[in-house]
Amino acid sequence: MTNGTSRTPGTPLPPGSTIGILGGGQLGQMAALAAAALGYRCHVFSPDADAPAKEVSAAQTTAPYEDRDAARAFADAVDVVTFEFENVPDETLAVIAEAVPVRPSVDALHISQDRVIEKTFLADNGIGTAPWAPVATATDLDAAAAIGFPAILKTARFGYDGKGQVRVNAAGDLAAAWTEIGKAPAVLEGFVDFEREISVIVARSPGGATRSYVPVDNVHRDHILFTTTAPSTIADDIAGKAQGIADRIAGALDLIGLLAVEMFITRDGDILVNEIAPRPHNSGHWTMDACAVSQFEQFIRAVAGLPLGDPARHSDAVMTNLIGDEADQWLDLMKEDGACLHLYGKAESRPGRKMGHVNRLSPLLSP
Ligand code: AMP
Repeated sequence: MTNGTSRTPGTPLPPGSTIGILGGGQLGQMAALAAAALGYRCHVFSPDADAPAKEVSAAQTTAPYEDRDAARAFADAVDVVTFEFENVPDETLAVIAEAVPVRPSVDALHISQDRVIEKTFLADNGIGTAPWAPVATATDLDAAAAIGFPAILKTARFGYDGKGQVRVNAAGDLAAAWTEIGKAPAVLEGFVDFEREISVIVARSPGGATRSYVPVDNVHRDHILFTTTAPSTIADDIAGKAQGIADRIAGALDLIGLLAVEMFITRDGDILVNEIAPRPHNSGHWTMDACAVSQFEQFIRAVAGLPLGDPARHSDAVMTNLIGDEADQWLDLMKEDGACLHLYGKAESRPGRKMGHVNRLSPLLSP
């Protein structure tokens, strides 16, 4: 910790201060690089000694997320704490929040950690989602079937990249699907025959100012994000509404930081929110090369209480994830004009593992 003034809400964190990051994956790595460019030190806490974020940060703690003594020492060593990984246990967060500001707040984190809480929060704020019903125990299965089929059964917590999800085509398959996801608390969600998937990334500062990046089109392959195209080609009025929804959610969360909102656009042009994540997001990686201020810099600016940067893009972009052995093409990608390659330095490549991404830039088609 550098000094006490940085702990006053609204006071910008001076350069030289230390930002604590819970989680050590590529999102933490790219955030730590952006923080370093603004003169901050990052201290990364994760159980994995080889975590990508640890390769590029000033200080590291390697301990389980349940280790409260390590969490206390971490909190005492930093000026503010943020996270790039949502599933940190409550007890650990409580220990940290006692000692140092946590941005976004623990309350905002709680909402996005659990699909039941998240969807209830969205409904309470008048934001549309696919029809859904909670499945806490086997006795809920019959009532949940009333939402209709096809549907997707999703674990309420700890799901990512399609893990913990099963498609259910008829009421008779529901019990087996619930067994398949381990009989964990879940939500049954109506299957949306969407026209496309988009996302909006918005930053919100301690004073409540927001700035959002342009909506982007996302294409998934095997439940994992494959490409993001910036900007989305949706109509301007839908783009404006999508940015408005992201803004409203950030305000309702009283967010300090960055929020990604994934949305389905239905064939009637309606917007349904699929998922929210209060952190940098894979669908914002294009901003690293196509905007003066990337999502990672914007994230650090918000968390540090600095003025938010201009999210305008100077180029259009298509981001393609490099999954598993696709990253082996790195040398060819390096030779391609207009292609900006980012590799995360992960030692081991596994099928489905995000190893890097490439941003292909092109001149702006329209402002
Ligand atoms: P999620 O983990 O909820 O973000 O889901 C991962 C991906 O699965 C989404 O980006 C969609 O492509 C697909 N998906 C999830 N939920 C639905 C749904 N209710 N209807 C149609 N596709 C879905």
